[in-house]
Amino acid sequence: MQSSPQFVGIDLGTTTTGLAWIRPDGNPEIVPNADGERLTPSVVYFDPHEDVKLVGVAARDSGDPDRTVQLIKRHMDDPEFTVSMDGRIWTPAEISAIILAKMRRDCSQIIGPIEDAVLTVPANFNELARKATLAAGRIAGLNVRRIVNEPTAAALYYAHAQKLRGRIMVYDLGGGTLDITILEVDDHGIRCLTSEGAGRLGGSDFDERILELIADAYQSAHGVGLWENELERRRVLQSGEDLKKMLSKLRQASETVGSQRGGVARIELTREVFEAAVSRLFTRTILLVEQALASVRFSPQDIDHVALVGGGTRMPGVRRMLKDYFGTEPKTCGNVDECVALGAALFAMKGADVEEVCNHSYGTLALVEDAATGAETYANTIVIPKNTPIPCEQSQTYVTSEDNENLIEVEITQGEDSDPKYVDIIGRIALKVPPNRPAGCEVTVTYRYDENQRVKATVRDERSGKTTEVAISYEGAGVLSDSEVEARREAFDSLRIE
Ligand code: AMP
Repeated sequence: MQSSPQFVGIDLGTTTTGLAWIRPDGNPEIVPNADGERLTPSVVYFDPHEDVKLVGVAARDSGDPDRTVQLIKRHMDDPEFTVSMDGRIWTPAEISAIILAKMRRDCSQIIGPIEDAVLTVPANFNELARKATLAAGRIAGLNVRRIVNEPTAAALYYAHAQKLRGRIMVYDLGGGTLDITILEVDDHGIRCLTSEGAGRLGGSDFDERILELIADAYQSAHGVGLWENELERRRVLQSGEDLKKMLSKLRQASETVGSQRGGVARIELTREVFEAAVSRLFTRTILLVEQALASVRFSPQDIDHVALVGGGTRMPGVRRMLKDYFGTEPKTCGNVDECVALGAALFAMKGADVEEVCNHSYGTLALVEDAATGAETYANTIVIPKNTPIPCEQSQTYVTSEDNENLIEVEITQGEDSDPKYVDIIGRIALKVPPNRPAGCEVTVTYRYDENQRVKATVRDERSGKTTEVAISYEGAGVLSDSEVEARREAFDSLRIE
């Protein structure tokens, strides 16, 4: 065992979490958990008898959906989402922290104490979800040195392991999300050009389709439904996922399912029928590919390599579709569900010359005057456009609109549209300015977008020259303040997590 603290990379995934370190020979390696699994299901079970939280396969197989939390990553951007368990409210950051704490504790037993980590997030994770991920790491006792986008980490791994260079499109079909990212890789580093993501398009959507096929087949053979409650449904869903994985290897496969009412049945499914049932999902993934190409004005021929990431890319239909579209075989590395963690470890240990871009436009809501008509409308003005290389900063000047105005309020937005209805308000700035001043005083707001893709703002009152650092505040039951994060971090030491 190594005794000096290790730098690790952690891929905190929707369905599984992986931790990697760099071996003394300089190559990244996955570190298994204490149960011997290379990837730990991102599932937490709250045991009612002993005050213990189970994480991983044991949690997934606990058989009690009311006490089991999964797919928590899908809620990291929801300020109102919480889980209530035994009278205690858990935020998404805390649930994620339970998973990270298990990884940290288990893997420390193999590679030595773990303190510093690079965590990965989907490229399209918004500001709130990134903040929640940082909080999760901190609560779990990690010093999060950087948050890196998953496709960037994957590209780093491909560049290391297969020496891929040039324009690479990372096609990442994970358990819950699809990310399409275009990067330029050369011997000096990685430059991200654009990233498009669909937050609700991943392997579990394919599982839902196969679940319908199984349920229909069972219903027509036995005349009754296959499940009556959530627990039974989840069992069938698991069988459906197993069947989906088998169909990645075989042209035809079967699974045994059953219910007390209709008895046991063996459901046969061909790859052809499965692919027909999910063809719409395949098409949606290609639409996202086209969107990514269009956003940088590339055609498919401009891409040198398509690199596959995520367990979903094991489906032969995905590979065939990409080969048809690009005219070349996509690159795979075998361990498609480990390469993000492996790339994160490379980043943690060696650092890398990585240039990322803003994956959303950031702006403000303000009254905007139409130059021709003089009419005022409430509109979103983009201050930092999507795909701007980061870190970056931009300023915008506002004028007070009324005499004696002593509070300037600015709403910070994330989104591409000028219509406030189609953008998200991610924070509010409230700035006190001295009273008794006429309308028309200038206030400059400077937005900084740091390397973790977190937004910060400073406000300068031009008349007094006073500059104030403004915290962008989030409100909601699912959001922890900085002091709450610290308190939870201390409390976590005494939690039993297995
Ligand atoms: P990831 O988040 O990258 O671990 O991806 C997990 C997703 O990949 C889950 O939805 C799995 O069902 C799916 N997956 C893993 N292996 C296979 C396979 N052999 N064929 C199809 N899907 C798979």
